[in-house]
Amino acid sequence: MSSDDGKKLDFVKAIASDGDVILVVGEQKVELRVHSQCLISASKVFGAMLGPNWSEGQNLSKNSPKEIPLIEDDAKALYTICCVVHHRNDILPERISPRELLQIAIEADKYDLRTALLFAKAQWLQRKNITDMMELAYLMAAAFLFDDMDMFIEHSQALILQHQDSYIELLADSTLSQILPANTPHLLEERRNRMRAEIGEIMLRETKNSCSCGWGKSRSDSYRDLLYEYTPLRILGTPISKVVERIQSISYDGNRQYHASTSRYDKDYYHEPAKYIATLAEKLEKAKRRVSLCLDCVQGSGETESCRFEHEEFYYRFN
Ligand SMILES: [Zn+2]
Ligand SMILES: [Zn+2]
Repeated sequence: MSSDDGKKLDFVKAIASDGDVILVVGEQKVELRVHSQCLISASKVFGAMLGPNWSEGQNLSKNSPKEIPLIEDDAKALYTICCVVHHRNDILPERISPRELLQIAIEADKYDLRTALLFAKAQWLQRKNITDMMELAYLMAAAFLFDDMDMFIEHSQALILQHQDSYIELLADSTLSQILPANTPHLLEERRNRMRAEIGEIMLRETKNSCSCGWGKSRSDSYRDLLYEYTPLRILGTPISKVVERIQSISYDGNRQYHASTSRYDKDYYHEPAKYIATLAEKLEKAKRRVSLCLDCVQGSGETESCRFEHEEFYYRFN
């Protein structure tokens, strides 16, 4: 029997036409003809299954490839994984949706393929333009299974900043509820509330944090207007990223302006909008670090002090 004899999904192409093993995957019984050696070197679990101690590993030969039923597994995810460990980048699916990536992460976790997929997953997890809440949650859960700290923080941060709906529905998804620790929605909510307070605080400080000239006054007034626009209740109903955009847009106003000294005790100076912009950007960045949800936050008690990710790396007080 060759791999061409089996039922196929449209994405499946022959991975290794002279492979000694045919994985028969999922309820659709998709047949993936592969080399046992590629699977053995990529995964300890396959190493045991296809090694000499199990019946599956006996008398493997490309002339009569052995069928290995993997009914519980996801066909597209295993196909993609097999392409990677067979160096078949030419037939790798071009588009992998966040949900499919989560399935790949589940298989990688089950078969201990994290090292074999180290570089592939780094690229798969880099998704910049995803805005849908469930898709972001799938990416976050995939990063969780791949134990990828940076990408877990990036996707959880997008959930915190871009969404104002309740996170409870994440656990209504049966896959997510099996993977993510049960406290995840609660912690996302807690961090989002903290971020709302952080940006309220930033707006409040910026009403005072300006030069004493006309430019400074109009900048302070703009923050005061914004503070009145984004009252606490209004902030609850707005994605935080929108408020952050408004906060930043104010600081881009104005030119460098010359101030002559008014007495012999002080010097001439320029007020520098660029300096205000940089300081504000730094404040926002620090607030984001503080409210980030990292892998250790969700696996521990939610306390940030003992996290590998330094939430307070540049801790400072507002001035
Ligand atoms: Zn000034
Ligand atoms: Zn943390």
